[in-house]
Amino acid sequence: MKKVISGAKGLLLNRQGVLTKQLLREPGGFGLGQVPSRLKPDAITTAVCGFCSTGCGLDVHLKNGEAINLSPAKDYSVNLGMACPKGWEALTPLNAPDRATYPLLRNAAGRRERVSWSTALDAFVRNMRAVQAKHGPEACAFISTGQIPTEEMFMLGALAKFGLGMVHGDGNTRQCMATAVTAYKESFGFDAPPYTYADFEESDVIFLIGSNLCIAHPIMWERVCQNPHRPEIVVVDPRRTETAMAATRHIPLAPKSDLPFFYGLAHILLREGWIDRSFVDAHVSGLDELTAHMSAFSPERVAADTGLSEELLEETAALIHRGKRVSFWWTMGVNQSHEGVRVAQAIINLALLTGNIGRPGTGANSITGQCNAMGSRLFSNTTNLMGGHSFESPADRAKIASILQLDERNIPRQPSLAYDQILEGIRSGKIRALWVVATNTSHSWIHQSDARELLAKLDFLVVQDMYHSTETAAQAHLVLPAAAWGEKEGTFINSERRIGLLKKVHRAPGEALADFYIFKLVADAWGGLDFMKRFETPEDAFQAMSECSRGQPCDISGISGYDQLELMRGIQWPLPEGQTAERRAERRLFADGAFFTKDKKARLIFEAPRPMAEKPDADYPLLLLTGRGTSAQWHTQTRTAKSDVLRKLYSQEAYLELHPDDAALHGITSDDWVLIESKRGSMRARAFITTIVSPGQVFVPMHYAETNRLTYPSVDPYSRQPSYKACAVRIKLEAPHARRLSTRPPPAQPSTGRPSTVPPADQGETRPSTKPSSAKRP
Ligand code: SF4
Repeated sequence: MKKVISGAKGLLLNRQGVLTKQLLREPGGFGLGQVPSRLKPDAITTAVCGFCSTGCGLDVHLKNGEAINLSPAKDYSVNLGMACPKGWEALTPLNAPDRATYPLLRNAAGRRERVSWSTALDAFVRNMRAVQAKHGPEACAFISTGQIPTEEMFMLGALAKFGLGMVHGDGNTRQCMATAVTAYKESFGFDAPPYTYADFEESDVIFLIGSNLCIAHPIMWERVCQNPHRPEIVVVDPRRTETAMAATRHIPLAPKSDLPFFYGLAHILLREGWIDRSFVDAHVSGLDELTAHMSAFSPERVAADTGLSEELLEETAALIHRGKRVSFWWTMGVNQSHEGVRVAQAIINLALLTGNIGRPGTGANSITGQCNAMGSRLFSNTTNLMGGHSFESPADRAKIASILQLDERNIPRQPSLAYDQILEGIRSGKIRALWVVATNTSHSWIHQSDARELLAKLDFLVVQDMYHSTETAAQAHLVLPAAAWGEKEGTFINSERRIGLLKKVHRAPGEALADFYIFKLVADAWGGLDFMKRFETPEDAFQAMSECSRGQPCDISGISGYDQLELMRGIQWPLPEGQTAERRAERRLFADGAFFTKDKKARLIFEAPRPMAEKPDADYPLLLLTGRGTSAQWHTQTRTAKSDVLRKLYSQEAYLELHPDDAALHGITSDDWVLIESKRGSMRARAFITTIVSPGQVFVPMHYAETNRLTYPSVDPYSRQPSYKACAVRIKLEAPHARRLSTRPPPAQPSTGRPSTVPPADQGETRPSTKPSSAKRP
């Protein structure tokens, strides 16, 4: 004790000690005001954030060329000097102890061991070729991500499909954006979110549908808060979310009753003649058919379907009618649904019927999830051929083959299987090898235990990731260590179609390489892929992407290169050659009413509502909703769990939102441990008793590793996007006396992915609960 006291005294009295230095501040320069002395930069550069699709600009503070700190960019039109906690902490995950720093290959004993890059590449090529030789080229597939730069998606798509002979590849964007893509394509003729963020500030009525904007896209919410028109903010969501609490109106419809709800609004608008007839006549097709379909959706019927009152329906329709600039924004509550495409189109229909599109403050606006989901939509070469082209079109194939200087016969004539179909392909034996890049299937895929079992069946699983510790990497035969955001350059495309630049501001650890260069190494190791050699830098790939986009709605041939993107503070697509970009410009689509269909008219599309795939019943009487937890968490938390700051901002223990009536029914009180069971699995969570959820509904954040043990594997038939937000569960008190005896949780697997201690000699088995897929050496 004496030692401790004298040590503490020493620290307090030492004027030149470590703590004193921590407190020293001085002018930081570069318009930063005062900064801690240790964080005084000698230069500043800019980059866009690598978490969500908002695409905030960040000023990265450099010392000797390395990032030491960052702050939100004040002159970037997206965020205007603001950032959410994830953005502020963007550098921290780069220094996590479980970074993948060298390739790992599973040995004969089933243990992953360190190997050289040349051994890793040899294993990649040997095993992929062996699978293709035995089972055909379709037997090897890839799953990519919305988290890497567009240039890297382009490289992977080109390499895998035009070089390695793969036919099937998809991305984790299937889990978040596929519904919006399909809806826009069918309604507008191209996947084209029409808005710019300035529309948040210019609307007088803002609908937020299945979107908890306050926490999912906090900077977009800040833009709503800057709206000077005192807008009506209408939140359509079964939960009384943070956003619903802040709104002027909350519409707590029954889960998955959105389709009858929006059809009911269309019914009233049509009945009252509250449509913009001149706009519809000039720019929209399908009004007569839509009118006939909507006649069945009387307020009386819709009230019964949605649990809302007829008065609320009438008032909501009148609100749309009175609005001069009405904008409709949606995100995962719509996209992740068994009938998400038709719901998205029901929203689009309202905007079209009322002429709320192409003008400031209007639009049918899908908000994207990941930082580069939009890049994936255009250039990943999965669902679409590069640049929004079609694999089935001979003219499109010839165009892309000519630009990339490759034999047109190397381009598949069919689009890829979707993510769920690739997994089903593993079950049937059609897919035997999988290359997973920067995503975490074993955590994030719906009906998780099934997904893990399927990955375990593969002859060869390659995971390319910045961490060796993800649930999916733990199952891999081969782990390729990748550089992260901040350790490489390229571009992201944000939700409003803005292409932003990211920079290399941090050295990748160990032997980790930018995905761009990993793809080049694979191409070299495979051999004979001369068309890949011309891409020496990411900007070379950008120029090729630009050529692929020429003449398309997403034409970016007017962007000269990275310097211009930097100078203009991002540029929204389209920018065809001959058009000039303005600095910090904010542009929306369809101001001329011309859509991308053959007749230039938008289509009104509708269909009869269908019941959700798994409804509550006598055995599983509650409906489980899932969604984002806080603004400090990101998806499977592989990155956000690495920050001490972010971890303080959310519950480390999984929790369950439970209505007081259901809690009383089950004898559960606040903070009790509860067992949640579905027909597919179970998890434990702390009870959070709240009226945020309605009776009969419960909510668990998506980020906890166990949540997807419960979810039901249904997909929208058109977009094949999984419906994460509705399945039947039951609950029971796990340990009635545990709460009183101890505040410690009962023994369970960790929920949060907090970094584990990594043995230096082996980056291998850090997650003992996840079994390796196979003991055999590939
Ligand atoms: S809102 Fe999104 S883009 Fe902006 S700082 Fe947060 S995570 Fe990054």
